[in-house]
Amino acid sequence: MKTTARRSYIALLLVAVVIGGLTLLGVRLFVHGEEWATMRASSHITSDGSFIGAGSVTDRKGVILATTSDGERVYNDSEDVRRATLHIVGDTEGYISSGVQTAYKTELIGYNRVTGLYSLKKYGRGNDVALTLDADLCACALDALGGRKGLIAAYNYKTGELLCSVSSPNYDVRNKPTAKEIAADPDGAYDGLYLNRLIDGLYTPGSIFKIVTTVCAVENMPKLDDWEFTCEGEITIGGVDVTCPHSHGSLTFREALADSCNGAFATLAAKLGADKLQATAAELGFGKTFAFGNGTTQASRFDLTNAAPGDVAWAGVGQYTTLVNPYHMLTVLGAIANDGTAVEPYVVSSVTSPSGRTVMKPQPSTDAYLTPEIARKVGDYLRSDVTDNYGDWNFEGLSMCGKTGTAEVGDDKEPHAWFVGYSQNERCPVAIVVCIENGGWGATSAIPVASDVMEEIYKSVS
Ligand SMILES: [Zn+2]
Repeated sequence: MKTTARRSYIALLLVAVVIGGLTLLGVRLFVHGEEWATMRASSHITSDGSFIGAGSVTDRKGVILATTSDGERVYNDSEDVRRATLHIVGDTEGYISSGVQTAYKTELIGYNRVTGLYSLKKYGRGNDVALTLDADLCACALDALGGRKGLIAAYNYKTGELLCSVSSPNYDVRNKPTAKEIAADPDGAYDGLYLNRLIDGLYTPGSIFKIVTTVCAVENMPKLDDWEFTCEGEITIGGVDVTCPHSHGSLTFREALADSCNGAFATLAAKLGADKLQATAAELGFGKTFAFGNGTTQASRFDLTNAAPGDVAWAGVGQYTTLVNPYHMLTVLGAIANDGTAVEPYVVSSVTSPSGRTVMKPQPSTDAYLTPEIARKVGDYLRSDVTDNYGDWNFEGLSMCGKTGTAEVGDDKEPHAWFVGYSQNERCPVAIVVCIENGGWGATSAIPVASDVMEEIYKSVS
């Protein structure tokens, strides 16, 4: 009896171990199945690290940006399109972490927690991912950037569709630079090569920050249009000199913004004070990250906690310690254009299975930054910038609003050239951000680029 009891006990123990093992395997499969199925070493889906069974990535017109052909991952025929869409389409190695081929790898391969790789086995391919991007607009933006470092992005501020996004430096996926070439880069030509500057970039804003100071002034100074300032080219605030390139003379607020007078905005910032500026920045999404791909954008930084009066003055003109993320700046311009509500830019419009079923149709998030009344007043000032200073001829038919920036970055380097703006033309509800690193003056470097891209966008919707 003793032996039988011991045998039964051992048998029960073995059953318990088997059940426990199966349970653990099931749990691990549920938790890690996606990771195991999509890992690059899995021969079902990769060959030499390249996807072989993944679906296509297409632009808004159905133009193929990446697809699988004869077991090889292939890309658009045009080198310009391949380079221009590189950071959004991404790579199969995962170096470009925010790229669609990394962020939507599971969908492209067709993995599903319930059916595993069923779709890939049945159809020989995964799901297709359609983007909101227009490949031709991206190629036009790449051309306008002319090999300089920086970024251009434009989106429909009513729908959130990202129409155009180019980040530079970039490379051709058919001719990838080797790790050795990148490491040996003598002149910084590959600096931040894998970063999508729209998402991962953080830059000194310079005068585009005057938009934030303007919002704060509109919110807190009911008689802003009666305010006047005389610029003598230099003013001292809190013992710190704030300078303009030349003396702007007597200015109303509207003229001070159109002329981008540093003295006027430093004076306004000092008058408004750190607390009000900080509150407006928070309202406009500073300090916040936005979901994009499988990650998040960098958060714009505006911190006046330890700022002396002179620092607050310089912060009001966008120089102090402030850093802005270009995606975030697009939302700010989009919100001003869209009666105060930011529709956050997105790039994947749908995911479709090989059988034609819609697997995913992402919807944009929205956030009310401003009241419609404040947004319209600020928009009216931004419209004057274009009509009174930059010139409507740069943006024919678009009723463009916007602001340039020439952001000093120190070390005797050329400033970053900015333009952020949007069209009030109802047929072309598009906001744009242009940042050319060390590109010089915003008005002479960034405006012509924005002009070329906006003209092409207007043609594409006309
Ligand atoms: Zn001035």
